[in-house]
Amino acid sequence: MAGTAVSGRLAWRVARLAEIRQETPTARTLVFDIPGWPGHLAGQHVDVRLTAADGYTAQRSYSLAAPANGDRIELTVQRVADGEVSEHLTGPYAIGDPVEIRGPIGGWFVWRPADTAPVLLVAGGAGIVPLMAMIRARREAGSKALFRLVYSLRTPEELYYAAELRRPYAGLDITYVYTRELPEGQSGIPRRIDVPTLNTAAWPADFGATTYICGPTGFVETAADIMLALGHSPQSIRTERFGPSRD
Ligand SMILES: Cc1cc2nc3c(=O)[nH]c(=O)nc-3n(C[C@H](O)[C@H](O)[C@H](O)COP(=O)(O)OP(=O)(O)OC[C@H]3O[C@@H](n4cnc5c(N)ncnc54)[C@H](O)[C@@H]3O)c2cc1C
Repeated sequence: MAGTAVSGRLAWRVARLAEIRQETPTARTLVFDIPGWPGHLAGQHVDVRLTAADGYTAQRSYSLAAPANGDRIELTVQRVADGEVSEHLTGPYAIGDPVEIRGPIGGWFVWRPADTAPVLLVAGGAGIVPLMAMIRARREAGSKALFRLVYSLRTPEELYYAAELRRPYAGLDITYVYTRELPEGQSGIPRRIDVPTLNTAAWPADFGATTYICGPTGFVETAADIMLALGHSPQSIRTERFGPSRD
């Protein structure tokens, strides 16, 4: 029954941490074993619930960082200073520890391997996470859809998935925008994402590309406004905001 399927997807499941990959000094990828995982699309997210010994619970949303892989899922968590959940997940949380997860959630900010339209991905900081799932899904599917990534980050050491992104991949062009510190030997000055950047990185508005923008709320609004000013239609722009998500 369709109703059963929906409630099953939104039920809390117990996941256990199976692997940790340190992405940057302040962000880590957490690989979980989650028996009975129903699968997901690139771009979807999950809710994560932590429960303390006294029964207190805290719940936050995290994007799925990789395409579906049986009973394994990957999340990448950026430590937010004084962040209730992220400081735990990037700190004391250890292999074998349980956590409750429900999902997958989201049906609009997704990319399907059957989609053939060109794709512009615009990431601000941890906003790279669901966009990386799309890049990985494209690669796994052998899709020929043209992809471009514009990745805004503060410093070179904050680059997530560095080894993977540095490997050239046909059909994927990447532009990095450093806001505080440039890589050694690169000329220019740090800057924020702006009209010239997206004007160069994006295809012309009539090219039929879909744009996915993800990051902190202010970043997403700025990037979306620029795309609209460059003539892209609101229907071609999909956004995901990583603002605080307390329940
Ligand atoms: C759909 C969705 C997907 C998300 N996916 C990811 C993801 O893949 N990886 C990831 O690291 N985060 C992601 N987030 C953000 C995540 O849900 C939490 O908001 C974040 O981890 C902070 O939670 P916290 O409990 O550590 O901080 P809190 O205790 O909630 O907040 C601590 C302080 O930090 C501020 N703050 C909260 N969140 C942020 C933020 N994102 N940036 C800057 N300041 C903040 C708060 O205003 C507060 O002052 C996502 C959010 C949404 C809505």
